[in-house]
Amino acid sequence: HVEYEWTTNIDLDDIFISVKTTQKYHDSRLKAIVKTWFQLARDQVWFFTDYEDDAYQNLTNHHMVQTNCSRGHFRQGLCCKMNKEFDFFLSTSKKFWCHFDDDNYVNIPTLVRVLKEYHAYQDWYLGKPSISSPIEIFLNPAIKSLESKKRAKDNQENQKIKFWFATGGAGFCISRALAIKMMPLASNGKFVTIGDKIRFPDDVTLGFIVEYLLKVPLTVVNSFHSHLERMDHIDVDSFRDQISFSYANIKDDWNVVRIDGFDAGEDPYRFFSLHCYLFPYFDYCKNRSLL
Ligand code: UDP
Ligand code: MN
Repeated sequence: HVEYEWTTNIDLDDIFISVKTTQKYHDSRLKAIVKTWFQLARDQVWFFTDYEDDAYQNLTNHHMVQTNCSRGHFRQGLCCKMNKEFDFFLSTSKKFWCHFDDDNYVNIPTLVRVLKEYHAYQDWYLGKPSISSPIEIFLNPAIKSLESKKRAKDNQENQKIKFWFATGGAGFCISRALAIKMMPLASNGKFVTIGDKIRFPDDVTLGFIVEYLLKVPLTVVNSFHSHLERMDHIDVDSFRDQISFSYANIKDDWNVVRIDGFDAGEDPYRFFSLHCYLFPYFDYCKNRSLL
């Protein structure tokens, strides 16, 4: 049990930021994060990976957590990492847990500023859906076993249930109060168990727990962005107001933010250029060189 103060004013140090990663992305995705936005929150950001990496322990203020979760882009390993992120948050005294993927750029001051609008002693599930209607899934006996008695009586097997979920690849935040309610359902491996029952990815599993089982609605915060959106639709003039950005490349088509700066060869994800736009006092920004 940890003591924490239920004061309303959120500062950076009240936020636990977890980033999901995997061995094969340390030298590419993680490297770009470590040199950019991680430097603005070295004590608050933790990386959840699947490999002991001494080099990255040194670069990340010893914030690499070897989860022992399985590698690979499969539900079990991904839910396992999300479970470890959640358990880690519970073991701290932080007021908000914010999760991001390793292809997110997080605009730290804006994240803090937005969270100041919410109280950690209330239930908050903040994020952004990537689909325009709630997901619908069929109730199977495994899912029905998780429902309240009343709901289990009202709902028929094979009936569809609907709920919203925040896209993991855009990032989301959960308040301490909500996390405490999630504890009996999600802590210590139980998140993985529920993922196995509903057989959907980790972010859908989280939406199911929060929106469907706990009845806490997702609050849509439009300043989270995943690469399911076109990054070049985000206007430069609004960059300061955005919480997260991302990138993806499918074949030769790069979905990246449109920003001048370093050449695409040295900054394919545009993270350094974006970072220098937001925080021009970094040395490599002043020197105009990433070498
Ligand atoms: N990831 C992982 N193990 C894998 C592949 C991906 O933990 O084998 C993580 C990755 O580091 C990222 C997230 O899962 O944080 C999403 O992966 P990616 O961006 O490659 O795929 P997407 O789901 O966005 O298409
Ligand atoms: Mn991605």
